[in-house]
Amino acid sequence: MHDLTSVRKVSIVIPVYNERECLPELLERTSAACRLLERDYEIILVDDGSADDSAGILTAAAERSGGRIVAVLLNRNYGQHAAVMAGLSQADGDVIITLDADLQNPPEEIPRLISAAEQGYDVVGTVRDNRQDSLFRKGCSRLINRLIQRATGKGMEDYGCMLRAYRRHIVAAMLDCHERSTFIPILANIFARRTVEIRVSHSERKFGDSKYGLLKLVNLMFDLITCLTTTPLRLLSVLGSLIACSGFLLAVTLVVLRCILGPDWAAEGVFMLFAILFMFVGAQFIGLGLLGEYIGRIYNDVRARPRYFIQQVTGKTPLQGVNRNML
Ligand code: UDP
Ligand code: MG
Repeated sequence: MHDLTSVRKVSIVIPVYNERECLPELLERTSAACRLLERDYEIILVDDGSADDSAGILTAAAERSGGRIVAVLLNRNYGQHAAVMAGLSQADGDVIITLDADLQNPPEEIPRLISAAEQGYDVVGTVRDNRQDSLFRKGCSRLINRLIQRATGKGMEDYGCMLRAYRRHIVAAMLDCHERSTFIPILANIFARRTVEIRVSHSERKFGDSKYGLLKLVNLMFDLITCLTTTPLRLLSVLGSLIACSGFLLAVTLVVLRCILGPDWAAEGVFMLFAILFMFVGAQFIGLGLLGEYIGRIYNDVRARPRYFIQQVTGKTPLQGVNRNML
């Protein structure tokens, strides 16, 4: 059995989208932090279709670095998480660290993440001390974090911070997931057995603006929710049932009151019409919810996530010299 805790090589994966001002400082500080590790390392920078000359800067840096820096260029903008996935597919370290290019998470924290991973944790998350973002962003994050905690049962305080470390087998499992929209910290937690969070400092963006406008944030939120669960589809049925039931109860109440208080009270059946309408609206929602159930199942099949994930098998010698495809 291979040793789960020893870390011989570290890979750093950084998505880059129009970050040309940040790159020189990023490369310098990340390389310095990696040299302190005193082990093999690689820094993989993924250019997510930048419109500025980030791609050129990265390629030049990679050519000069003697194999330490790897530049991966995507043909267009696919979004932060897709870019990180592209980087992960190129990484071959025992521990892989993701990091933002804008230096909001200091690369100097990398050694602390590695030592946490060495204690046997599959995923090392970080909590931003004194987070330097807008109040709106912080409020949204708090709400979303609570939602994720409910759904995954994994109590992590801060899912939004991308400075994170993953063990090799977690990354391999994530790469096995074929869905297009994904939210990496959640995906990783699905496969992790032991997770931990450490506190790191957080600084303001030095150059440029956040690459997430309102639309991109909304998109990210939908990615996050659909990555997690198909429950929203099921909620349609629940909502439909509630509306239909209340419509029915209203109808019964109206009939009873009509019998007790007489025809004058009934306002010529207007309210009765409402009650019937409610029942029909409810029935429609139930129908939609039923469709949702099918769509949810289709979605789960299409993204073809592994049904289970074996992290480790002890006491069984691996099959040797057998063509696994024949099994
Ligand atoms: N990013 C990316 N593709 C995108 C948007 C962002 O690769 O479409 C990168 C960006 O270059 C940065 C990281 O993702 O390295 C986080 O982006 P940003 O700092 O703008 O997000 P925020 O800190 O505001 O959440
Ligand atoms: Mg940022």
